[in-house]
Amino acid sequence: MKTKFIFVTGGVLSSLGKGLAAASLGALLKARNISVTIQKLDPYINVDPGTMNPFQHGEVFVTDDGAETDLDLGHYERYLNISLSHKNNTTSGAIYNNVIAKERRGDYLGGTVQVIPHITDEIKRFVLALGEGEDAPDVAIIEIGGTVGDIEGLPFLEAIRQLRSDLGRDNCLNIHLTLVPYLRAAGEFKTKPTQHSVKELLSIGIQPDIILCRCEQVMPEDLRKKIALFCNVDPDAVFCSIDVGNIYELPLSFFEEGFDQKVAIMMRLPARNAHLEPWREMVYNFAHPKGEVTIAIVGKYVDLKEAYKSLHEALMHGGVANRVAVNLRYVNSEQIDEKSAATLLAGVDGILVPGGFGYRGVEGKVNAIRYARENRIPFFGICLGMQCAVIEFARHVAGLEDANSEEFDKNSANKVIYLMTEWYDVHTKNVERRNETSDKGGTMRLGAYPCKIAPDTRAAEAYGTDLVHERHRHRYEFNNAFKDVLAEKGLVYSGVSPDDSLVEIVELKDHPWFLGCQFHPEFKSRPMQPHPLFRDFIRAAVEQKAKN
Ligand code: GLN
Repeated sequence: MKTKFIFVTGGVLSSLGKGLAAASLGALLKARNISVTIQKLDPYINVDPGTMNPFQHGEVFVTDDGAETDLDLGHYERYLNISLSHKNNTTSGAIYNNVIAKERRGDYLGGTVQVIPHITDEIKRFVLALGEGEDAPDVAIIEIGGTVGDIEGLPFLEAIRQLRSDLGRDNCLNIHLTLVPYLRAAGEFKTKPTQHSVKELLSIGIQPDIILCRCEQVMPEDLRKKIALFCNVDPDAVFCSIDVGNIYELPLSFFEEGFDQKVAIMMRLPARNAHLEPWREMVYNFAHPKGEVTIAIVGKYVDLKEAYKSLHEALMHGGVANRVAVNLRYVNSEQIDEKSAATLLAGVDGILVPGGFGYRGVEGKVNAIRYARENRIPFFGICLGMQCAVIEFARHVAGLEDANSEEFDKNSANKVIYLMTEWYDVHTKNVERRNETSDKGGTMRLGAYPCKIAPDTRAAEAYGTDLVHERHRHRYEFNNAFKDVLAEKGLVYSGVSPDDSLVEIVELKDHPWFLGCQFHPEFKSRPMQPHPLFRDFIRAAVEQKAKN
């Protein structure tokens, strides 16, 4: 196997930025012209994050092949500019699920099924799959979720311990991310939590090769030496991951530390310089905006930015594309009624209604959209946001007063958004993952689907092409029974599926910029390639601001 594996574990506490660190290392190796893939192993028992509450777990990131994955995969795609799949994320739940299915099938021939070797073998298979095939990458970075010491994480750690003996020393590298707090009162950095964390790792047989220390500022040299000595790593194998102003600065900061250089030497990777100019330029543009706009995000999960991670990033990318800073104003949709809309949305240059599930806050979203339409403020609706835009248009422009989505009102005579069961029966490529709760029935449309773009529309202007592929995660669809009625009143269908059966993008003609899409464009936006819809939405906001 030509692929070499880098394992990234975390200690002391969670939220140290392990995902960003792994993604940043990946970006640096890629900039050295080394092919890289990256995988996340999540210790929780859920089979995938698809059913998890975004409040608790953050956004569910959807891949082209329709896997519902951890939000770290979003960082990986953005930093590495690659497209990942179901092969890049698994959980304890999924691993156990596979093992139990095999046991039921009799694959283990009556043997006793145990954590070691059966669970660990299943984990190793999942990891090693990245190295299979002709286009296997030079390096696979494997991030183990959670913190060393967690009960759930043990089988994963045991698996990577074994992989090192299976694959040989030169082919594996262990990087451990810890926290080195700075105690202001004592005026000192503290290394003890790092020592304890490494001790914990050692007790399960893993000796880290590199220690990456999350710290508020760069640590002095003698402290690095101390950590190296106590944790038994090379003196030049202790690096700082300092707090950066913009997350895209992290690869540059790692580069300054010589982190990728050390990794390349230890793994005997070809000695090349990282070509970081394009990345530097992007970071420079982030740091030097020529203006700013304010975008209102009208949603339910306004308290938790993690729930809208990719969206947040895509808006920032759209800002960079226009050389402006994007200020976000999270507005709780439950508070927006017809009267408060003007106050709550006063002064914003654009209004965005993101995806979501459930009725709570929907009427507020409809009110916000009405405000955007009537006051000619740039509007971008994503998934549920697009569905709400159709509801708003049907109610207030086409006069279908009780227009609604089947998700929220099963008895409405005007279900402009509905469950398109016949379509799912024939076409869907995903088997139902949520049957348990299902009066919702049918399936979710997940992953990338093609979309034809109609000429002379905002969508065509943005994409500059007549066919795109965008990622979906929803159950309900635009109801074609209302296609003509709404078109007569001015709703434009600027994106539809190649067979015309599904409306994917709607927009308004005589409005500065009003567009709703059934898919989630934010999943495909990258800092080096801002998504065209976000780019144009922000451009419209810039123009709006100039008018005020
Ligand atoms: N709840 C809507 C649906 O299932 C929208 C989903 C979403 O915004 N991702 O169709």
